[in-house]
Amino acid sequence: MNLSRKEMLRLIGAGAGAVALGSAASPAAGSETGGRGDIVRDVAVIGGGAAGTYAAIRLRELGQSVVVVERNGRLGGHTQTYTDPATGGTVDIGVVVWHDQPLVRQWFERFDIPLRKASFGGETLYVDHRTGRAVPDYTPPNPAAALALYGEHLARFPYLEYGFELPDPVPTDLLLPFGEFVRRYDLDAVVPTVFQFGQGLGDLLRQPTLYVMKNFGSDILRNLQIGFVSTSRRDNSELYRKARTELGDDVLLNSRVVSTDRDGARHATVRVDTPAGRRTIRARKVLVTIPPLLGNLDGFDLDGLERHLFGQFRNSAYYTGVLRDSGIPDSLQVRYIGLDTPHHLPELPGVYNIAPTGIPGLHNVKFGSPVALSERAVQAEIRASVRRLGEAGTLPATPPELATFASHTPFELTVSAEAVRAGFYRRLGSLQGRNRTFYSGAAFHTHDSSLIWQFTETLLPRIATA
Ligand SMILES: Cc1cc2nc3c(=O)[nH]c(=O)nc-3n(C[C@H](O)[C@H](O)[C@H](O)COP(=O)(O)OP(=O)(O)OC[C@H]3O[C@@H](n4cnc5c(N)ncnc54)[C@H](O)[C@@H]3O)c2cc1C
Repeated sequence: MNLSRKEMLRLIGAGAGAVALGSAASPAAGSETGGRGDIVRDVAVIGGGAAGTYAAIRLRELGQSVVVVERNGRLGGHTQTYTDPATGGTVDIGVVVWHDQPLVRQWFERFDIPLRKASFGGETLYVDHRTGRAVPDYTPPNPAAALALYGEHLARFPYLEYGFELPDPVPTDLLLPFGEFVRRYDLDAVVPTVFQFGQGLGDLLRQPTLYVMKNFGSDILRNLQIGFVSTSRRDNSELYRKARTELGDDVLLNSRVVSTDRDGARHATVRVDTPAGRRTIRARKVLVTIPPLLGNLDGFDLDGLERHLFGQFRNSAYYTGVLRDSGIPDSLQVRYIGLDTPHHLPELPGVYNIAPTGIPGLHNVKFGSPVALSERAVQAEIRASVRRLGEAGTLPATPPELATFASHTPFELTVSAEAVRAGFYRRLGSLQGRNRTFYSGAAFHTHDSSLIWQFTETLLPRIATA
């Protein structure tokens, strides 16, 4: 980053003043269409999820013209809202909560979307993930003391809150598998809490501690105390619908990049297949916010370093859905545990939990795996998990209908501890601004929308002035 830590804190609102988000759409300066039908912009933003949408709106406020290329038919990425056709009620089955901090509050105020404090109350039934039997004598450890100790360890690594600017050498504690870190520092009691918050991280105990601490960091601890926020209208996608309306023709939905040429003297050329045919974008800069896996960057003119770095990423898998008429009581959360597994974590692939939605007859199910699975296999395992509840006599559960189901895979992108030690993230950081290209999104920070917005915010001045 070019910004000093002080400037960064000021921008994210942790200092004296918070970033001033505009309240109206800025004119997209220089957003004329080229004579031959080319789309001419300052910045081509690839991906319209948390990072891409935030960047596009803010770059326009900074006087930059943008175009967003999004492969889905909507903006929002992992933010996904199911609308029950029977009641009209909504369920956020993807992103649920954000940090209570100035940048987040101003971002939602900007779109006139009221926030409320999120609540996670309700009765929880712990169930053996193998048999579906209730485990009435299981009580999760009280994490309070261990969380305080965990916080002290986090304080040793303050840079984890902002991207991957790791010191050289990288502290060996950050490279330990998290299970070993927990053993070494007597942190057993935090594991169930970290596991639930870190849904989607794959095999939590084997992940290098770096990734766990980035995901379950000090601002998460702060928000566990003061309370996270969510939307009062229980429709987190409203943000992205409003952003899409504001961005108008500057969003290309259902579109994919077929080729890029970033070598041009004055601009990069990005060719995109859209529902209206192939379009050519000429942009001075490209901001990539999609998961930077080689398979997802097909058509990009990657150079040797980019190919070498992105080729090292591996990913976990995360799935979500809505169960209809499962027989599980409306107000009950079912949480799966292992009887003989370390820290009683359920084995993955498997169901994390089945949670009430506030709509009668509907529950939200979350499923994780260290590697991608076929959607059919995941759906079958979800149904089997519910069936076992009935067969074991735990609940009057019956194999439910999946009212909706979505794969949020690839999820967490990680590299090996050896690669981190060898300077992977230093080299990844060196890609910012190279080849007219900048990067944001979860792979460049962590799977946390609030922190991704912060990270993106710190990057914007560099993009705007490049
Ligand atoms: C079930 C679930 C629950 C979660 N809950 C929370 C939560 O409560 N709070 C929280 O802060 N975070 C939560 N997260 C984490 C969330 O993933 C991140 O906060 C955030 O969405 C990541 O932002 P991003 O921009 O990196 O990725 P995304 O939001 O996924 O955006 C990437 C976008 O790029 C698009 N894309 C991908 N490949 C291409 C391509 N080749 N071409 C064009 N477009 C492409 C995608 O369609 C997507 O729109 C949750 C995630 C999941 C899956």
